[in-house]
Amino acid sequence: MAVFVQKFGGTSVANLERMELVAQRVEERLKEGNEVVVVSSAMAGETDSLIELAKKIEPFPPERELDVLLSTGEQKAIALLSMVLRRRGIKAISLCGWQVPIITDSVFTKAKIKKIGIQKIKNLLSKGYVPVVAGFQGVTEDWQITTLGRGGSDTTAVALASALNAICEIFTDVEGVFTADPRIVKNAKKIEKISYEEMLELSSLGAKVMQIRSVEFGAKYNVKIHVRSTFSKEEGTWIVPEEEIVEKVVVRGITLDRNESRITVVRVPDRPGIAAKIFKALGDAHIVVDMIVQNVSYEGYTDMSFTVSRNEAKKAEEIVRAVAKEIGAKEVIRDDSVAKVSIVGLGMRSSYGTAGKMFEVLAKNNINIMAISTSEIRISCLIEEKYSELALRELHSAFIENGEIEVL
Ligand code: ASP
Ligand code: MG
Repeated sequence: MAVFVQKFGGTSVANLERMELVAQRVEERLKEGNEVVVVSSAMAGETDSLIELAKKIEPFPPERELDVLLSTGEQKAIALLSMVLRRRGIKAISLCGWQVPIITDSVFTKAKIKKIGIQKIKNLLSKGYVPVVAGFQGVTEDWQITTLGRGGSDTTAVALASALNAICEIFTDVEGVFTADPRIVKNAKKIEKISYEEMLELSSLGAKVMQIRSVEFGAKYNVKIHVRSTFSKEEGTWIVPEEEIVEKVVVRGITLDRNESRITVVRVPDRPGIAAKIFKALGDAHIVVDMIVQNVSYEGYTDMSFTVSRNEAKKAEEIVRAVAKEIGAKEVIRDDSVAKVSIVGLGMRSSYGTAGKMFEVLAKNNINIMAISTSEIRISCLIEEKYSELALRELHSAFIENGEIEVL
């Protein structure tokens, strides 16, 4: 017997028919003799339409009220889901964040969980109930309703699993985490086991399976996470500590991120303090900079490029234009037609030649590299967006379909 936290995403609770499938997944675990806590997202599209509604009133709605509004999505879902479960004879009981309670800080729209009271849930479990907890929402110490950021139900689930020493099942509409986006790469394969660290890199690079914060949480508290499909009984992908992975392949997954823009400051005087000026201004505006490239200087001038997320590119451009004027740079160019392809794998730590091989694959396909960034287990290249799908397929073929497996 074990305790399971089963989290269902928006598409799994999209309508009452789908909720019946959810109920089957719950029933199966109960029949095996386990205890189950359910965490639910809002029904598919609900959070988006609530945001849209609020934005009709104000482009930037007051965040406290936005959280009160958005939390209703999950509240509706847990009530309906509990009714569906009850009709099957399962003793379900819905709980909002404040009823658990899931205590957060007071940063509205992206609150962090500070504490979880598990006594109530434990009592309910011992009496044979299935608590159905609203994902994504919490409450501050002074009773304000908060939400945990988009995709935050994952974090609710992982945090509850950690508090209850449970196995966390993340049910979604895909069968697990894939070596690349299967919509682009036909031969993409489901990954059986992936380390927290690899999953974190993949999530930060645009693989949208789980909220990044939930993976960080899992890594910190060693929560066993199983990402799987609501619509099949197949095993999905296990996210586990590194020690549990025998096959440390060089490249575990390949991602494509089309959400960046490149900004180039042309002909900047090459002297100390210039980069500091540009990036301090961006930092002051809370803009996150990703890749940075500075060219070799020529006659006392150089070009400097960097990338930011595309929805902040315009703002970044304006800020940099102001600084450029002040420091005497020639011009500022913004390019939205770029994409970042990345390869990720633990085995990169102990293998050599991986970067060379990646660049070679791109070169063979006449794809120019505009910027490069790396971590211990990742290499990313910025390329022209129009080549991005080609690059993804070619890299997948070179590293995963025909790559050697290195057993460490
Ligand atoms: N309903 C929220 C969202 O769409 C939280 C979640 O689904 O995880 O972001
Ligand atoms: Mg999600």
